[in-house]
Amino acid sequence: MSTVVTERRSQGPPIRQTQLFIDGQWTPSRSGNTFTTIDPATEEVIAQVAEGDAADVEMAVRAARRAFDDGPWPRMNARERGRIMLRLADLIEAEIDELAALEALDNGKPVRDARTGDIPLALDCLRYYAGWADKIHGQTIPINGDYFCYTRREPVGVAGQIIPWNFPILMVAWKWGPALAAGCTIVMKPAEQTPLTCLRLARLAQEAGVPDGVINVVPGYGPTAGAAIVRHPGIDKVAFTGSGETAQVIMRQAADHLKRLTFELGGKSPNIVFADADLDAAAAGAHVGIYLNQGQCCCAGSRLFVEDRIHDAFVERVVAESRSRRVGDPFDPATQQGPQVDRAQFDKIMGYVEAGRREGATLATGGGRVGERGFFIEPTVFTNVRDEMAIAREEIFGPVLSVLRFSDVDELIRRANATSFGLAAAVWTRDVARAHDVARRLRAGTVWVNCYDVFDAAAPFGGFKQSGFGRELGEKGLEPYLEHKTVTVSLA
Ligand code: ADP
Repeated sequence: MSTVVTERRSQGPPIRQTQLFIDGQWTPSRSGNTFTTIDPATEEVIAQVAEGDAADVEMAVRAARRAFDDGPWPRMNARERGRIMLRLADLIEAEIDELAALEALDNGKPVRDARTGDIPLALDCLRYYAGWADKIHGQTIPINGDYFCYTRREPVGVAGQIIPWNFPILMVAWKWGPALAAGCTIVMKPAEQTPLTCLRLARLAQEAGVPDGVINVVPGYGPTAGAAIVRHPGIDKVAFTGSGETAQVIMRQAADHLKRLTFELGGKSPNIVFADADLDAAAAGAHVGIYLNQGQCCCAGSRLFVEDRIHDAFVERVVAESRSRRVGDPFDPATQQGPQVDRAQFDKIMGYVEAGRREGATLATGGGRVGERGFFIEPTVFTNVRDEMAIAREEIFGPVLSVLRFSDVDELIRRANATSFGLAAAVWTRDVARAHDVARRLRAGTVWVNCYDVFDAAAPFGGFKQSGFGRELGEKGLEPYLEHKTVTVSLA
């Protein structure tokens, strides 16, 4: 097969922001260093971006600290904070085409997905939390004695937010939404693979009226800029989405100042299909569950458990649908799957394909590269996978599905839970009692029944076990950005 994208894009979106955003100003990094961000469909350089490190984080934390300790943001009428957040959502919506194109260019995801999925979800999240801004209140508590006791919920302070590259715009919304509603100020580091849309959103936040210093963005690498955020004593809380290995490093480093932490990490989610399910819906769910976002989802349904009785026929369908998936140029509206984000991810995924073969799984379809340029991988299905194989245990973060067979429900639950992860799971059945029973017994933060990848800003999301702690979205997602203060007043 020839290359997927044959020409350099002349009609790409404008690249407007490539510098650090600190205290409302665009600045080069203090070191003067930059890093390249590439188009994963063509492997060509998109832009040079200012590379922040500890010195820049220092400036950003100072700005965020000032904005929190003395600035208007935590002090303004809560409803006004909500209005500014709504304005930000409106500005994003007005630029949805440009932002979707920028996201597709930097990340490789189909522009149609960014336009109809990521950005609408991000808007929803910002608007949902805008609605919370004036609804964060405490309680009065009837304590013993002649006292008036009440609680206040106050912003936790300066939030350090470190996000990954798989959903750059959406991750910004998930992090900024609750932090801004609570009255916190922010130092954010976008992933080094995908800094561009986060910087654009910072510009729009300023236009919406977010005061200087409330949102600061320091692009750069994890061990330098990221670690500086985690270690800085001026940061009160760190919210991190990424890999478990990095979370362990962060947790150790955050210990020095006992920083509050929330982690949203990886998964190896079981997607369970019983013989009595609506098999059309289940096959579509298996497809979306693994392939959405090129398989680069922490909640990907990467272990497909299929009941013995329907196994062969069902797998045939899954394989056929995988073969017909359209892999191609993210800017072609017909494309369903773009390239993986970078060479490191591409190599890692191909390594797992090799491991699956070596360990004796059957490669039912895919397993190869698409084209000679860009990080495109064929939709890939392994059958005859055994629980102990690497492809059944480890997060691949790519378009590679492992199919496992089951017959008994108790055995199924044991196997589905036999993982250090616990982010998500799904079950497909027409038996209502069984659906709820399995949902209850699965050790995962989200269980979808007869659906997959259904997200809503109001519904909490996060992991059991090593998939993280704390929750994002919903009222629960606000909690990590708030402290509770108890005030007791003598009435004597
Ligand atoms: P992935 O493997 O998906 O890239 P990472 O956990 O490496 O996941 O990266 C997620 C985010 O964490 C990125 O923004 C990355 O730069 C950042 N990061 C990586 N290492 C560190 C670190 N030691 N301290 C803080 N942030 C880090």
